[in-house]
Amino acid sequence: MNIPKEIRSIIEKLEKSGFEAYVVGGPVRDFLLEKMPKDWDVTTNAKPEEIQKVFPESFYNNKFGTVTVINKDAKDESLKNVEITTYRIDVGYSDKRHPDAIKFTPSLEEDLARRDFTVNAMALRIKNQESRIKNYEIIDLFGGREDLKSKIIRAVGDPGARFNEDALRMLRAIRFSSQLGFEIEKNTFKAIQKNNSLLKFISQERIRDEFEKIILSDRAYEGIEFLRVSGLLSFIVPELEKGIGVSQNRHHIYTIYEHLILSLKHCPSKKLEVRLAALFHDIAKPQTKAGIGPDSTFYNHDLVGAKFARKILTRLKFSNKTIEKVSLLVKNHMFYYNVDEVSEAGVRRLIRRTGKENLKDLMDLRIADRLGSGVPKAKPYKLRHLEYLIEKVSKDPVSAKMLKVNGQDIMKILNTKPGPKIGAILKVLLSEVIEEPDKNTKEYLEKRVEELSKLSEEEIKKSEKIIKEKKEEEDLKDKKKFWVK
Ligand code: ATP
Ligand code: MG
Repeated sequence: MNIPKEIRSIIEKLEKSGFEAYVVGGPVRDFLLEKMPKDWDVTTNAKPEEIQKVFPESFYNNKFGTVTVINKDAKDESLKNVEITTYRIDVGYSDKRHPDAIKFTPSLEEDLARRDFTVNAMALRIKNQESRIKNYEIIDLFGGREDLKSKIIRAVGDPGARFNEDALRMLRAIRFSSQLGFEIEKNTFKAIQKNNSLLKFISQERIRDEFEKIILSDRAYEGIEFLRVSGLLSFIVPELEKGIGVSQNRHHIYTIYEHLILSLKHCPSKKLEVRLAALFHDIAKPQTKAGIGPDSTFYNHDLVGAKFARKILTRLKFSNKTIEKVSLLVKNHMFYYNVDEVSEAGVRRLIRRTGKENLKDLMDLRIADRLGSGVPKAKPYKLRHLEYLIEKVSKDPVSAKMLKVNGQDIMKILNTKPGPKIGAILKVLLSEVIEEPDKNTKEYLEKRVEELSKLSEEEIKKSEKIIKEKKEEEDLKDKKKFWVK
């Protein structure tokens, strides 16, 4: 791997202007691991104004003291914006999260010493711009290369002191360990266990960013386990700990907590929402458990779980889009799909409930759920059969938009203005058509509109409810037979 020409050029320009300049931190670590860095950070003894003079088209973010150089023509996203920071030290951490001030320093050593872990505290100097072979030198003051080789995350300096300065570093240790597949050095880990409660000083947004990276990493399962053993989990998702040691019933070999982290481990999707749903789908089982031993039940854990997931993700300041999606997946994770018993109308009901765009993710969640139960096979033929049915009914009407009469038509027929009654009628029509798609004709629906219009709004709503509840009860019966929970 080579240092990209955009980066070499930035460093060369700074050096030609009489400054020192290094690649620093994450990209040095990734470069030595022969991984493509996400971004290339540069550090220098030049002050922000001096950097800006060298790069007239850069912009300066005063708050972070960072100058960003724009490479419009760079092919790689990671090279389009390159951040250059002046060597700095952090002064005072009275709130355990932000330095009271940052101070520029002429010393690279001091800048490296403020960094969190040895593998993140190296700098790379380009020795000879002309040479094409090993033309760089690594400044490694804390044994970062050795730790990279032995796959170890180790705090720079005294871990307890460093975590007291900024408690987020404890979570970052676990994040890097799950992303890189590294062990956390013994004293560093002990210091996390000792100081875990300091995490309560850290904002939910910063916690979320690290938590998200753990969830998306290849070792998310190990990451959550590290969070538990270190004691940090209580300060992030204490709800998960409620399932520790809580057994299920004759259909499950794992405790609730074990099942949830194994579902995350086996989640076939790389999407954040699906992974979060895998981790949270049974989050309400401890609270909905009734009975003991092999005959325990967990009725409504899907609905209650969706509420819990919403609460957790709201607290962690995830986006509304993520919150909605995860709670939808959790709410519907019990969907039924036994080959002989699921009807086309049942599949249409499923599509109506969840939306077609979510079905793939829901199936991925089911695969995660099954694999996380220790069930030997994820029964792929069943899912394939369901996919086939979805395809087959995909032209059938599953939403009000697809009905042969719309709100306008209804208003015309009844000669009325918009109002809740129109919506109620549409829902009844849709419920009927979902059961029997052949009824989706103008003629039939117009007749039904006339009939329904004679009822009050209450009565219309009731008749829709009756159809829906009867059918959903059928779904539920199937569910109990097959996926007893
Ligand atoms: P990623 O590839 O995820 O961006 P990174 O190592 O670049 O990994 P960043 O969060 O972007 O991580 O931080 C850049 C560098 O700044 C780190 O490598 C580390 O040297 C330093 N750093 C970041 N956050 C802290 C912190 N809280 N305490 C000390 N040093 C930190
Ligand atoms: Mg970075």
